[in-house]
Amino acid sequence: VNWMDLTWQQIAALPDDTVAVLPLGAVEQHGPHLPVSTDFVIATEIAAAAVAAVPSDVPCVLLPGLCYTKSDEHHAFPGSIWLSWDTLMATLVDIGRSLQTSGISRLLFVNGHGGNSALGQVACREIRRRFGLRTFFTHPGVPVDQGGSGSAASELGMGVHGGHGETSLMLHLRPDLVHMELAVARVPEVLTEFRHIGFGKRTSFGWTSDDFGPDGHVGDPTGATAEFGKAFVEGAVPALAEVIGEAHRFRTQ
Ligand SMILES: [Zn+2]
Repeated sequence: VNWMDLTWQQIAALPDDTVAVLPLGAVEQHGPHLPVSTDFVIATEIAAAAVAAVPSDVPCVLLPGLCYTKSDEHHAFPGSIWLSWDTLMATLVDIGRSLQTSGISRLLFVNGHGGNSALGQVACREIRRRFGLRTFFTHPGVPVDQGGSGSAASELGMGVHGGHGETSLMLHLRPDLVHMELAVARVPEVLTEFRHIGFGKRTSFGWTSDDFGPDGHVGDPTGATAEFGKAFVEGAVPALAEVIGEAHRFRTQ
């Protein structure tokens, strides 16, 4: 069910334990080979497929995806359109408040952009405390700097942006927008000199994408394939459908 297709009375009639699913994308540079829509396409496509796959006894509704989010790490590149952290925080909190007014008590963010994660976690708690919603935050694929395993050995655990995984997903979802002839490996191997500081290590670091070079992506898209992207989607969609089911019945006591 798409929120945008419903009337107010149909929304008012949704069960109170309906899970509202909100895809979070981004409008940001993804290197020379991928469009700025990459994270938005991935989040909205996988969320829509998962909502469609949820069993009919689990009430859920798909909200329109949010494309403008927190992409300040890509500020140096044309095409990145981002909200300040406090603007995005206020936006997510306002969405939570509006859902409460609509009688919705469960909200699941499906995040396609790693740069939103820290803020999204804070927003989940803020919306929980202020409006009483049960809030959840998940990803179609866990980013490698947030505990994910990564998808290509050549990335050395540093495929955080526009690398093998995202490029493969776009080759599957929107091949018309991928420029594989421009794909080059950009793995910041210098980070292997540091044991404790790095992506996914015990000490994180504040970065912007121009810290790693002029191309904008961080990873190795050269081995990306539509087949890998298709297999990823075929794993992610049922897993996300299960997450929606758990968000529907989740309790803490
Ligand atoms: Zn991305």
